[in-house]
Amino acid sequence: MSETTDPGEHTVEQLQDELAAIDSPRELEGMLDAEKDGQQRKTAQEAIRARMREVGPAEGEVVEEGTETEGEYRESADEVEGDQEGATSASDEGAGESSGASDADDLALDPAEYDIAEFGPAIKGVDDADELEAILAAEESGEDRDNVKTLIESRIDKVTEDAEETEGEIDPSDLSTAELGNALQGIDDEERLQEVLDAEQSGEDRSAAVNLIQNRIDSVQEEEAPEEIEVVPPEEKHPDLDHPTADKQYVKAIEDGDYRDMWVYCETQAGELIDVSKEMLGKARDLMDTYNDDYETDERVVAVLIGSDVEKHIEDVIAYGADVVVHHEDDRLERFQHKPYTELFCDMARWGGDPTADEGPNEADWRDYDEPRYTVFPATNNGRDLSALVQGELDSGLASDCSDLYIEEAMISNPAKTGRPGTKKEFERVLHMKRPDFSGFEYSTILCLDNPTREFHPQGASVIPGSFDLPEPDHDREGEVVEHDLELDDDWLRVSVTDHDQLDEGVDLTGHEVVVAMGRGIGDDPTKGMELGIDLADAFEDAGLGVSRGIVTGSYEFDGHVERYTAEERQIGETGQVVEPDLYIAAGISGAVQHKVGMDESETIVAVNTDPDARIRDFSDFFVEGDLFEVLPELTAALESGELDVEAVAADGGATDD
Ligand code: FAD
Repeated sequence: MSETTDPGEHTVEQLQDELAAIDSPRELEGMLDAEKDGQQRKTAQEAIRARMREVGPAEGEVVEEGTETEGEYRESADEVEGDQEGATSASDEGAGESSGASDADDLALDPAEYDIAEFGPAIKGVDDADELEAILAAEESGEDRDNVKTLIESRIDKVTEDAEETEGEIDPSDLSTAELGNALQGIDDEERLQEVLDAEQSGEDRSAAVNLIQNRIDSVQEEEAPEEIEVVPPEEKHPDLDHPTADKQYVKAIEDGDYRDMWVYCETQAGELIDVSKEMLGKARDLMDTYNDDYETDERVVAVLIGSDVEKHIEDVIAYGADVVVHHEDDRLERFQHKPYTELFCDMARWGGDPTADEGPNEADWRDYDEPRYTVFPATNNGRDLSALVQGELDSGLASDCSDLYIEEAMISNPAKTGRPGTKKEFERVLHMKRPDFSGFEYSTILCLDNPTREFHPQGASVIPGSFDLPEPDHDREGEVVEHDLELDDDWLRVSVTDHDQLDEGVDLTGHEVVVAMGRGIGDDPTKGMELGIDLADAFEDAGLGVSRGIVTGSYEFDGHVERYTAEERQIGETGQVVEPDLYIAAGISGAVQHKVGMDESETIVAVNTDPDARIRDFSDFFVEGDLFEVLPELTAALESGELDVEAVAADGGATDD
């Protein structure tokens, strides 16, 4: 490294100016090392790496044919300090690896074959750092997904650390006391030191050696002792402010709480157990079976039924996967109401106990833990309300509208969670809650983690209907049934339904053979676009016209004769209708996941879109790359002239696009 450029002497801004004048790869490498040994600023390291990529490799370094020079500069993985926020965060470290570095056939695992949810568990099966490097290279030269790269880098860190631990093992009986003293300086892991101590004590048991090891343990403990975090309740810290949440003392009252089981709120509508309740039970069953194997424990799936005459669903929820059913019957709860449903669910979760009282929460005979470990609700209108209220009342968090769930460890570096800046902490048994963002194309994985001074349980999610398969019921399964008993407070029932009327049912798109759905692709001439959709639907014998939410919430100005076709009652998707026609024609629709869940069970899907990379192409049987203003009239004309045989198209539903 150049003696004149020490990154530690510069702010990142100054460093960027300095870097522009440095052309020596060796000097840059030295600076990177110095930064890593010194201040460890990620932004500074990134700036140096960027410059390394610009200047290329050192003269005389061998660059394989077909590889990109920038590959020379990717750090070895154990040097990479990727953000460790589990699957939620992206690693922005490291430049790209050589494009020809990996042949998918030679890889222990080809990342291109996995989505992020499947990739996390799969990568755990690879223990070889070189193989992991090759997988990382393949990802970088392929899809280059930040979250996948973070997972690979974390795995490389883990296997490298494990390997270093094994390499560094010392047997005190091979060493003199002086040699032992020196060797101990290289170990800062308390567990390993304890092993050395045990080995010495069960072997030669030399008092000088025992003292040395014990002293080393003491000094490591001192180094590791977390900085004391002073906890001042917000009410004391800011007495001048109004504190509407000052009564939220429930979770704060639990320290080192005992959390178990996955609770599933099983919603009923008009007396029927809805499909998403069964889907969640099936998923919960799978998750907890794996969980129990992984952690050698016996935590359960607990189904919660609240309402009037919900007892009749008990057998079903057991058949779909529950080990325990907690139910509360009350005729006054025929319809969902926020207050009593929330109070009842929370009371079940606390089991009537007052955690702030000395004796803590009550113990029911069927459970003896403070709170559920996980809660899962349906992302229906009522489920969304209930989930937010329950999780708020229990003073925890909620990931809403999730499309996947899995449980695994998460390595976290956020000081708010670790309690100490610059350290990493592994959280166990974390429910990873994967959800689409508002665009419907990107996914985040939400984690609900304890803080050093406050615990957050249950880890809660609401789940988009249709995200999980409907499981096969097993009517031979057995489960425990618990009747919940609590007097409903009249105040909770201030809203009572004295009379009701059935609203106009609106438009039902579910029974048609064909559905033509219009999306924001009509934007150039919204009224004309809708007219073309109506014409196409009319050309079929039995077709309904639907729209994406993009149309419903858009601020298009439609002429009166088409406006009624753009109302919410025609919306297809997660928050609209779910249709499964023989033929679904999506015109000018991008294919956001919230739309997809409402139509992807259709027999044959035809998409018309100007963008050849539109996501809808991934789940269409036929993709017409083109302008709907041109394509739709042609389709209509072909249908009307009999030139297009729709039955043949629908029958050929498995064919590829174009
Ligand atoms: P865009 O995403 O804007 O796509 C327009 C498409 O038209 C693009 O692919 C473009 O290439 C193409 N295009 C442009 N011009 C033309 C042309 N002349 N000819 C052909 N193609 C053209 N959405 C739903 O649909 N249903 C739901 O139930 C739903 N529920 C939601 C619930 C939540 C909680 C959230 C957050 C979102 C929900 N959404 C829902 C919204 C969803 O995320 C998308 O924003 C929406 O589906 C996008 O609609 P779109 O495809 O019409 O528009």
